Amino acid sequence: MSFSPSIAGLSEALTDFSNALVAAPASAFVRLGSTFLTRLPAAPLSAPYLVGFSTDTAALLGLQPEVQNDPGFAELFSGNVTREWPADLLPYASVYSGHQFGVWAGQLGDGRALGLGEIDHDGQRFELQLKGSGRTPYSRMGDGRAVLRSSIREFLCSEAMHHLGIPTTRALCVIGSDQPVRRETIETAAVVTRVAPSFVRFGHFEHFYSNDRIDALRALADHVIERFYPHCREADDPYLALLNEAVISTADLLVDWQAVGFCHGVMNTDNMSILGLTIDYGPFGFMDGFDAGYICNHSDSQGRYAYRMQPQIAYWNLFCLAQGLLPLFGAQHDDSVRSDRVIEDAQRVLAGFKDRFSPALERRMCAKLGFESTREGDDALVNRLFEVMHANRADFTLTFRNLARVSKHDASGDAPVRDLFLDRAAFDAWANDYRVRLSEEARDDAARAIAMNRVNPKFVLRNHLAETAIRRAKEKDFSEVERLAAVLRHPFDEQPEHAAYAGLPPDWASSLEVSCSS
Ligand code: AMP
Ligand code: MG
Repeated sequence: MSFSPSIAGLSEALTDFSNALVAAPASAFVRLGSTFLTRLPAAPLSAPYLVGFSTDTAALLGLQPEVQNDPGFAELFSGNVTREWPADLLPYASVYSGHQFGVWAGQLGDGRALGLGEIDHDGQRFELQLKGSGRTPYSRMGDGRAVLRSSIREFLCSEAMHHLGIPTTRALCVIGSDQPVRRETIETAAVVTRVAPSFVRFGHFEHFYSNDRIDALRALADHVIERFYPHCREADDPYLALLNEAVISTADLLVDWQAVGFCHGVMNTDNMSILGLTIDYGPFGFMDGFDAGYICNHSDSQGRYAYRMQPQIAYWNLFCLAQGLLPLFGAQHDDSVRSDRVIEDAQRVLAGFKDRFSPALERRMCAKLGFESTREGDDALVNRLFEVMHANRADFTLTFRNLARVSKHDASGDAPVRDLFLDRAAFDAWANDYRVRLSEEARDDAARAIAMNRVNPKFVLRNHLAETAIRRAKEKDFSEVERLAAVLRHPFDEQPEHAAYAGLPPDWASSLEVSCSS
């Protein structure tokens, strides 16, 4: 095995890191070989500079914060150094397919992402991927690039989601450049380094199924089972057990999204992680004023991926995954009954989505309202709250956060939440019923408030906060990216000094259109 050569200007720490990265341990994704990926260097990015750095993600990888000051850091994480790597150690783009907006789209793949390799640290292993590092064989009409705007959004949101306790790909850094990139206007290029245990998507399975490459399909499923779900091997049908893992982790993820008012925006099957991670941050959005039909992606004219649709779409996507895995199911059945049995088995496993999702969401909503357990009638109370919030476009995050101040004894603490509703009478009617329910709780107000503040974040990545950080970054002031990331590291803490980051969006935010181009 030859290793990545040390690069002039790269510190010893980063040279060691890149050597470890390309070493490709057993069961690394790259070991699946050329049926699954193409190796190529990143395209050159001129005069790269650091825009954002996550100390937390660095720590996961065993990197000290000081590495960000290494003159070679931006060269490594722009991909520039990969041009010096030997052919057999080059980064890799993987091939996948998928359903986009409900329609089979055929072959897609990493059109602007390149895997660098995998890092073992502290008993965990992470794959690193550059996003925006140039064209690949799967770029189709795209330029292989990502712009600064969308890269900062992905960087901030993936770290913010993690600190909200929501499974997600992570981000180590954003590297910028003055190199122009053409979108609706001319913007500049950036590269995000994403970090995750695996970047395998539902679409990877769909790809090999649709091409009738059953051996490759099995190799991919075996890779995921071996790395992440070794207990599936003990099941009667390991591949059905794998589907079940995807069903469970996806249901749990959707509970997390719905509970914080997060909209993904592009829930195509190629943007669904086999591990149930939030992946591919594009035109996502956290809701300000609650609208059950909120659509954050302006090209989603039908509202397929609207907030209220997300759980159903996840379920639909799991059917696509099940179809992709179908040829692997049922080896334990006799040939004469096999085809009937595998369909029944797959349907049973898929039905588990609803069994998992609905009670879990109900429990989560009860926790958000401060109830220690779920009681008869709670779901109706929750639904009525959402109706009143929807009718008033009450701020999602502030409504739940301020509910902690409502007292079970009287209306003395109602004002902060009540003021978010234009129709005060409608809120009061609901609040009276809420108080009756609270009076059944054993906990006192103070203890309940502490518990509620652990599940109702004060700080989320509102669009206008990201926009402010982006506008400054376009002027080469990256301090707001850092400040905002620091606030979002502690979303459940009061942080009174950062109250402005928790406030209602300013008037100009309502005219913000998050472009789906990235
Ligand atoms: P998305 O739905 O945004 O995740 O992207 C769908 C497909 O388009 C994926 O295969 C991406 O890799 C690819 N893609 C998106 N933008 C670009 C780009 N600028 N250049 C090349 N490929 C891209
Ligand atoms: Mg994608």
